[in-house]
Amino acid sequence: MWVDVALPLPLENLFTYKVPEKFCKEIGLGKIVTVPLGNRFSRGVVVKEVQELPPKLENSNIKEVHEILSLDSAISKIYLDLTFWIKEQYACSWGEALTLIPSFNIEKRGLSRKKSTTLAETLVEDVLGKEPRLSLTEEQNSALEPIQQAIMNGIHENFLLFGVTASGKTEIYLRAISKALAQGKSAIFLVPEISLCSAFWDILRKRFGEQVGLWHSQMSFNERNRILKEIKEKKINILLGARSALFVPMERLGLIILDEEHDFSYKQEEKPRYHAREAALKLGELIQGVVILGSATPSLESFYRALKKEFHLLELTKRVPSSRVPQLYLADRRTHSKNLAIFSPELLQAISKAILRREQVILALNRRGFSTFLLCVLCGFVWKCSNCNLAFVFHREEGEEEGRLRCHYCFEEKPMPKVCFNCTGESLFLGGFGTQKIVQELKKNFSFARILRLDRDTARKKKVSLETYKTFKEESADILVGTQMVVQGFDFPGVRLVGIVDADTALHHPDFRASERTFQWIIQASGRAGRNPEGGEVIVQTALPDHYTLQTAISQNYRAFYEKEIEFRKSLFYPPFSKLVLFRIQSSKKKDLVIAEAERLKELLVPFKGEEFQILGPGPSSREILRKQNRWQILVKCGNKESLQKVIKAGQSFQTKSGIKIVIDVDPYDVL
Ligand SMILES: [Zn+2]
Ligand SMILES: [Zn+2]
Repeated sequence: MWVDVALPLPLENLFTYKVPEKFCKEIGLGKIVTVPLGNRFSRGVVVKEVQELPPKLENSNIKEVHEILSLDSAISKIYLDLTFWIKEQYACSWGEALTLIPSFNIEKRGLSRKKSTTLAETLVEDVLGKEPRLSLTEEQNSALEPIQQAIMNGIHENFLLFGVTASGKTEIYLRAISKALAQGKSAIFLVPEISLCSAFWDILRKRFGEQVGLWHSQMSFNERNRILKEIKEKKINILLGARSALFVPMERLGLIILDEEHDFSYKQEEKPRYHAREAALKLGELIQGVVILGSATPSLESFYRALKKEFHLLELTKRVPSSRVPQLYLADRRTHSKNLAIFSPELLQAISKAILRREQVILALNRRGFSTFLLCVLCGFVWKCSNCNLAFVFHREEGEEEGRLRCHYCFEEKPMPKVCFNCTGESLFLGGFGTQKIVQELKKNFSFARILRLDRDTARKKKVSLETYKTFKEESADILVGTQMVVQGFDFPGVRLVGIVDADTALHHPDFRASERTFQWIIQASGRAGRNPEGGEVIVQTALPDHYTLQTAISQNYRAFYEKEIEFRKSLFYPPFSKLVLFRIQSSKKKDLVIAEAERLKELLVPFKGEEFQILGPGPSSREILRKQNRWQILVKCGNKESLQKVIKAGQSFQTKSGIKIVIDVDPYDVL
């Protein structure tokens, strides 16, 4: 007897092994095994039983399965099918896709009892308590009705729950889960990032108690094993987590919820480069269950599909009675940019008013660090990272005498120079501003205010971000400055003013989703301001006040934004009208070689060219050099599934010269 095994290698084919007598009883589909591979052993998954050897294989040359790892369990058919689908869609091997399944990575070690608490669990300890059940609004009722029907009747259906911020989406999720549990089914609840788990962990535990489990990629081996065990024992029936939770095999899974379905974090940037929304829809189909995608600003793709009736569209247009609609304003940066001020008079005035009234303020800016570049005024020299050819960002924490130059891509660091590297002149200028400088500027203007900062630099220390969160929530600070993470999901009722310091950085991002990202960002920010019963206020600073993205965002009109944006997508043949495949050729070898390889790849793709098919490039990636690698890319737009599959297969069969790497990213979110 023989089996075909999928190995986590970037190779399309499966590997055939002989099953020794002693394993014949236990072996079967989905079993995790170790097998010899060259002069080492590799882990793999049995994906096919082979009764008769193909003629090209000689039995005496075939090696034997060494060990069966999952004696009592195996990867079920559903997850074999799901990973096979990922392999087909996202240009990886079946073995690589199977590494997403937790049991594939579980180590063969004993269980220890030590249980470490996570950020989310720590946050919830002091807030557990009974919460009154609110009655639903009419809108909520009519959105919930079809979901409950589908769950009760065991029908496979995909819903897009489009609800403005504070319209009560969460209550609908909770009641859908209740219904699933009542039918003896379990549920998975996905959020885009680990940091957002805490808010929902709190809510879910209050409503459902101990049967809620948490899953994310930073958990220890022991924690994972405990969760998997409790799922098997049906002690955990609701699993909350970031995208990796989708692959945890729940018992009798019936409901999958994806909150903030528009969020870019659902796309995995490393291999296997799958999109969790698409994988969730596929899993929903495989289990014949219910999928709910929720958002206040649906992705263009999802809303398009909902309008085409591929998803059942449910709308919540009104906020729940206890909250008021926030007011949004634009502040034109051009009118005061002569004196290089970071804050417009409008924003400054609003901040001081808020502080006087003892209200909290959030200021968001999508740039970390102090200054975004260092320039010699005499000769124009800009300090750039030699690995990436991108400007160094100047970092200086509060209280530090001298700062450092840091590359945001490869983490290279340099001390701050005293003279110009190029002309030895001494007139150096720090340009642009990041979150650290905002804090300094605020201190100049509001010396008495208590200011906190939250960005990836401060969040690196888990304890610091937890303390920052608590301090601000308890209203022991006045202003919270941070990157996107400060407007994501957190609930701070003391906040009435949110300032977006510079909306244009997101809008100028060289990516066709730049407008979508900016629109989402502003609406999300308004959600943070809207928790205050007095009615919140959002001030958006921009130099492009007439841009349709900003205009539709401040009037909080998603449909108007959608109408404009979908026209643009259509005219340029971007998603949802096409599927994109990005081929990136990268190497530390000479640029000419990289370009030549990119040209050779293009030759291979050209024969597919037609009306439903466009090739852009090859051209340099917008970060042409990154970590000492030269990067050139080809972007392909495909109008139908057949051409998409052909293009993926062609790219996978492309043999690069040694030392040159090809990355294939289907449905890319990072096209830089
Ligand atoms: Zn100089
Ligand atoms: Zn670098």
